[in-house]
Amino acid sequence: MAKDLRALLGAEKVLDDGPALTAYAVDASIYRIPPQAVVLVESEDDIAATVSYAVSRGIPLTPRAAGTNLTGSAIGSGIILDVSRMNRILEVNREERWARVQPGIVLAELNKQLSSQGLLFGPDPSSGDMCKLGGMIANNSSGPHTLRYGSVKDNIQSLRTCLTSSSWIEARSYALDDPTLERLLTSVPALRDVLVLTQVHADLIAAKQPTVSKNSCGYNLFGVADGLTRGHFDLPKLFVGSEGTLGIVSEAKIMLADKPAATLTALIHFQSLEEIGEAVPQLLTLQPSALEVMDANTLNLIGRGNHSIPDNAVATLLVELDADSIEVDLREKADAMAAICRPYKLASELTLAFDASQREQLWKARKALYPTLYRFDAKKKPINFVDDVVVPAERISELIRYLEEFFGGQQVPVAIFGHIGNGNAHIVPLLDVNDAGDFRKMVQAYQEIHATVLNRFGGSICGEHGDGRVRAGFVKTMFGEELYDLFVQVKKAFDPGNILNPGIKLSEAPFTDHIDYTRLSKSCATCAKCNSVCPVYDVFQSEDMSARGWFEIVTAKDYSYLNSKRVVESCLNCKSCRTICPAGVDVSDLILQKRAEHPNRLAGWIFKRQAHGAALESLLRFLGSTQHIWDRPWLRMLLDRITAPFMKALAPTARLPHDLVLPKLAQRHLRERYSQLIPRGADAAPTRTVAYFHGCAANYFDDGVGDAVIEVLKKHGVEPALPPQRCSGTPIQTYGHVDLAREGARFNLRSLAPYETIVTGCASCTLMLKDYPTLFQEGEDRRQAEALAKKVVHLSEFVARSAEHPPMAKIHGTTKRVTYHSSCHLRAAGVTKEPRQVLSSMPGVNFVEMQDADRCAGGAGTYVVKDYDTSQKIFNRKASAIAQTGANVVATSCPACMIQLKNGLRDSVQVKHVAQLLQDAYQAAEREKS
Ligand SMILES: Cc1cc2nc3c(=O)[nH]c(=O)nc-3n(C[C@H](O)[C@H](O)[C@H](O)COP(=O)(O)OP(=O)(O)OC[C@H]3O[C@@H](n4cnc5c(N)ncnc54)[C@H](O)[C@@H]3O)c2cc1C
Ligand code: SF4
Ligand code: SF4
Repeated sequence: MAKDLRALLGAEKVLDDGPALTAYAVDASIYRIPPQAVVLVESEDDIAATVSYAVSRGIPLTPRAAGTNLTGSAIGSGIILDVSRMNRILEVNREERWARVQPGIVLAELNKQLSSQGLLFGPDPSSGDMCKLGGMIANNSSGPHTLRYGSVKDNIQSLRTCLTSSSWIEARSYALDDPTLERLLTSVPALRDVLVLTQVHADLIAAKQPTVSKNSCGYNLFGVADGLTRGHFDLPKLFVGSEGTLGIVSEAKIMLADKPAATLTALIHFQSLEEIGEAVPQLLTLQPSALEVMDANTLNLIGRGNHSIPDNAVATLLVELDADSIEVDLREKADAMAAICRPYKLASELTLAFDASQREQLWKARKALYPTLYRFDAKKKPINFVDDVVVPAERISELIRYLEEFFGGQQVPVAIFGHIGNGNAHIVPLLDVNDAGDFRKMVQAYQEIHATVLNRFGGSICGEHGDGRVRAGFVKTMFGEELYDLFVQVKKAFDPGNILNPGIKLSEAPFTDHIDYTRLSKSCATCAKCNSVCPVYDVFQSEDMSARGWFEIVTAKDYSYLNSKRVVESCLNCKSCRTICPAGVDVSDLILQKRAEHPNRLAGWIFKRQAHGAALESLLRFLGSTQHIWDRPWLRMLLDRITAPFMKALAPTARLPHDLVLPKLAQRHLRERYSQLIPRGADAAPTRTVAYFHGCAANYFDDGVGDAVIEVLKKHGVEPALPPQRCSGTPIQTYGHVDLAREGARFNLRSLAPYETIVTGCASCTLMLKDYPTLFQEGEDRRQAEALAKKVVHLSEFVARSAEHPPMAKIHGTTKRVTYHSSCHLRAAGVTKEPRQVLSSMPGVNFVEMQDADRCAGGAGTYVVKDYDTSQKIFNRKASAIAQTGANVVATSCPACMIQLKNGLRDSVQVKHVAQLLQDAYQAAEREKS
């Protein structure tokens, strides 16, 4: 099959190797089905060719975007058609507020790009950082702000859709007397079938229409019927929410809204569930854009202490109010909200946030709720199988009470949260599905809760997550035989061969088929949050080249390094996945463990020379003194060629690119110049309390960073010691030499032990020194490592906390526009605010935040030589983010990032370490004084 597909589409668009199929066997649901092949489509021709091939061979075809659905709808046993590479905004019409967009764009990216025009796409699933438009359309997604913007179905004008006949239609709303419609109905008989069927059964459809405010269960014949009453055949209503079972979307014309002029977010902690029920209708009169609830169990599970939630809160409401113009005073609305809540017993004062970063903090826990629950227990995991019910909004407290009693009876911990303003509750019990008792409870809860939602509450089993595999078997119970039969007719009309996403939406199979019992005992929620920051995924847009995919690959039973080398060696060890993972998984560490089983020999040889001999240092000095000769274009070309075979031992893609701007190698290393930099020299070192851990770059490169760090420390009244030190270990570990990294760590632990504070100027050294405890199981080494971790500070932290405030002045008397690239390892070490604080406090610095400041720049130590092409592709995003800021200077906190930034930006923008900018400002003040 893959051979055929390669012939059709080109080799680079088709995957069928073991690791790729493993990565594509999961989405964010509880299921697992390995496909036979994956197609990474890049055009409509690719889509049509794949559809035609699948239909001609009778092979199941599953469209897929980000794979974040919770229902198993983006996995399948045949071909996976991944639309991620079709991710562009094709056109934006500011005046008419619409855009034409491809299905592979991530919602957060879409809105980031639209925000420059003051626009946004309203529906906002909590997975917005990772989910993509195609999946949102197919699931009819919505989110906290449905109250204001509606679901996806309310925001689509038209869809370009490929049908199983391989013909393309423009699925828009057609007036019934429009001649184009007649032509369309003639050329696509399936459309006429649906039109007639809806007209004939209008009464049945009306009778069965859910009366709650949201429903994504079944095909939306209700929307189609509604259109017909207004004289329109409203095709988007049919295709939105059809979960890839009727056609494949290649482009959508979406409706946009104006971004609110200001927003207020509030947290309200209630002491009584019933009082929440009373308060909600009143709060709705304020026309909130979002009204969310988290029940007591949820608050316990996510940790009240972590989020300052009072012990006596039985539930917390998150309310958001928007102002459409700056004239609207949100403080008045805040007062009105407080007045509504006054009669009720609140567990604390209202928490109000007007500022964007504070608001983001309030939302953070809510948005990451589901994967965060993975931290709760090693065996009991949050299982999505009754996760999306809808009841009348005013009865949500009653529903919560019922659910708490139900799960209390089962003795099952459960998190209940959701969009209370719409009556849409997400119910996530924590179960060990490998335990027979828990499994029975799951099946019982599935039947009973869904039946209760239908019979007692008159609700829907599905508000926004889709039916997928998990609810497909209950659709008939929800709507009854007759309407279900109409749904079957709709499916047959468009897809007589049952090729498109079989088993999804309509199925007789039990929801327990294909449960991934192995994965549900692992630590990863498969939520794909890590993919949204993984620089490799950003470039390849393919699940086998992504953090989530790598988790699957390296933890698979049949994992083998040799089969998976291609993917396992592609990770940059940037740690972005670890920083962001709500479940506390460190994918990069799992990969390092696998690399440690096959350490790179050449890298090991180099690191051993570095650790134990002066020979490498002499060589580096020699190269430094001759750099003006060998670092010329034609000689670099020669070097590129000569070193190629040698570099291949590092990685098949490794080379010393002739056009890479190399850092200047020092002729005298920083350590050798110590006595010049610190007047009292090394003699006084033992009496010092602060040590400077310079790391390799500041020692070997003549980039001014080491000198600047020492100068800045001196200005703050500290003459740092420079105790003997070895490489912190990051690159050593990256190439799989854990023992060598441990040996170096032991050396550094002993050497740094006497000092109270260890200052670093390098992001990777900061993180590695803080991470030393992970290298040792227990004993004295572990104890020393833990003690060291507490003493390590990055220079920017040191300056931000310093009681000294040395005078600073504008550098060269001018004001510069400075932006900040936040190095991945410093973010992983938790240092994000301080560098920005320091920069913002400098005179003559007009600090401007960069859009993708927190994304990897692609340098990652030696990755720039290990895989130069990928590294440069990663940098492209950073380059355009920097360009957008209009900055003259990019500041960073890591010498390794500086290499990548200098190479990528050449001379268009100045690249400086934070320490260097501080040094310049102090010197400018001195010059002014003198
Ligand atoms: C932590 C977390 C929070 C979530 N919160 C919400 C929430 O608040 N609201 C909500 O609605 N959902 C939520 N979800 C579920 C999910 O993220 C959304 O439904 C999302 O819109 C799915 O998008 P996706 O890109 O991941 O689609 P995928 O999972 O890749 O696919 C979803 C469906 O779309 C189909 N599909 C994909 N692309 C196409 C195409 N081009 N043409 C036709 N069919 C296509 C697939 O076949 C599948 O049926 C959450 C999920 C997680 C993990
Ligand atoms: S590693 Fe973490 S962020 Fe990534 S998919 Fe798993 S749970 Fe989500
Ligand atoms: S460390 Fe970086 S490159 Fe590696 S998986 Fe994590 S995010 Fe991706």
